[in-house]
Amino acid sequence: MNFKDYIRVVPDFPQPGIRFKDITTLLKNGEAYRAAIDALRDMVKEKEIDLIAGPEARGFVIGAPLALALGVGFVPIRKSGKLPGDCIEASYSLEYGKDKLAMHRDAIQPGQKVLIADDLLATGGTIATSINLINQLGGEIVGASFLIELSYLNGREKLNGLDVVSLVTY
Ligand code: 5GP
Repeated sequence: MNFKDYIRVVPDFPQPGIRFKDITTLLKNGEAYRAAIDALRDMVKEKEIDLIAGPEARGFVIGAPLALALGVGFVPIRKSGKLPGDCIEASYSLEYGKDKLAMHRDAIQPGQKVLIADDLLATGGTIATSINLINQLGGEIVGASFLIELSYLNGREKLNGLDVVSLVTY
């Protein structure tokens, strides 16, 4: 399946000059959504994984079904102030804007093997911050998986040789 056929590119969103990759057009197609999750599962299934961690909000849409497909748990990485329990936090900057991410302090036990999942790798800021949080909790990061990678933003270089898999590259 050519997943690019299902991804809508929206020029000048959310700011002039940004060509936003809209995955809602893929998600609403049951066959394409299933095929994308199955393909991501096949790319990581040889890894030993205890948990998937996904950043809000589109990381949930990829990470949770991928966790189910692999038969492992899912832990959310959320914007600051959203999680009810005791949290750790880290600041980050996006391709556009700045924010803080948080995880529950008991989300990951030291030594657990964690795969990060998100819809899209752009500058790598979100994933670098997710790595910071997971490291603080003592998790062992085994890789990161994305539906889309924007290779021209060189996000991979920020991730220090982390094993990165993506279905579609622009
Ligand atoms: P990064 O932190 O790698 O610069 O940006 C990646 C994060 O921003 C992801 O969590 C992703 O959801 C969001 N993002 C940035 N650009 C786009 C885009 O063009 N399309 C989508 N779907 N998400 C984007």
